[in-house]
Amino acid sequence: MRTIKTLLTACALACGLVHAQTYPDKSISLVVPFAAGGPTDVVARMIAIPMGKSLGQPVIVENVNGAGGTIGATKVARAAPNGYTIFLHHMGMSTAPALYNKLNFDPMTDFEYIGQVLDVPMTLLARKDIPANNLQELIAYIKANENKVSLADAGLGAVSNLCGLMFKSAIGVNINTIPYKGTGPAMNDLLGGQVDILCDQTTQTVPMIKDGRVKVFGVTTLKRLSALPNVPTLDEQGLKGFEVKVWHGMYAPKGTPAPVLKKINTALRFAMADPVIKQRLADLSSDIPSSDKMTADGLKDHLKLEINKWGPIIRKAGVSAD
Ligand code: ASP
Repeated sequence: MRTIKTLLTACALACGLVHAQTYPDKSISLVVPFAAGGPTDVVARMIAIPMGKSLGQPVIVENVNGAGGTIGATKVARAAPNGYTIFLHHMGMSTAPALYNKLNFDPMTDFEYIGQVLDVPMTLLARKDIPANNLQELIAYIKANENKVSLADAGLGAVSNLCGLMFKSAIGVNINTIPYKGTGPAMNDLLGGQVDILCDQTTQTVPMIKDGRVKVFGVTTLKRLSALPNVPTLDEQGLKGFEVKVWHGMYAPKGTPAPVLKKINTALRFAMADPVIKQRLADLSSDIPSSDKMTADGLKDHLKLEINKWGPIIRKAGVSAD
């Protein structure tokens, strides 16, 4: 029995090595757990082309949306661990375990870690014709129209949802939330005036703000952003300590061979070193992590810290779903 197991293990290692030598010999699917056109999708599409150049095969973005990113994560956790399915997700990986009573994946045991990808600030927006021109006026408008104002988000587990929860709790007023399969479609409805408020990453919002297509009421970092120097922080406007910066990571299903992971990590680094991408991300005030964070341990350690940070906060807030 033992001999068979040893043989199988030896074969698995050897087969993995052979596989790694020829990897990749077909296109790779980069799963994004939100709808096309939103900020996570924007980042995935930005890096997919240079990653494909480095790997010698196309990297194709696959949007597997819904339930705040947990449907996409479940799909990747169950995918074959052969390097042909990889995953880009944000800090929702660390909030989902506390938000969902039943989660079909475990962020700490069902994945291999490729590296941290980037850190993105958020912005609090409203439809262009909302009758408020600064944060205090917006809060007054929400209070005067309690239960009529709507906040769009990408569902429980999404950072837009988390930011919305923090905003509601900071101002002490309920705002009805409308969940979308990503903040790409949520933004379309904000532009169309069907919803009132949205909190979303700068990777989608900076061009809309600059073009005056939405109204902006603050940024979620403690310091103002170089991309939006005239937009005050929420903290400086009285929402003390309001801080969300959205970190992103790249993952593969558990059991993906180490040499394959190494090739993917090299491709990720290649993409993040691309001068055009660096400039685009700088224009969106998004930070590329240091080299030591763009590693398996850099991501895994950070994920663990974040799970431990958000778990108690979420449980205290009493927000969870099945
Ligand atoms: N910004 C979204 C979120 O709230 C996700 C997306 O569509 O990229 O998590």
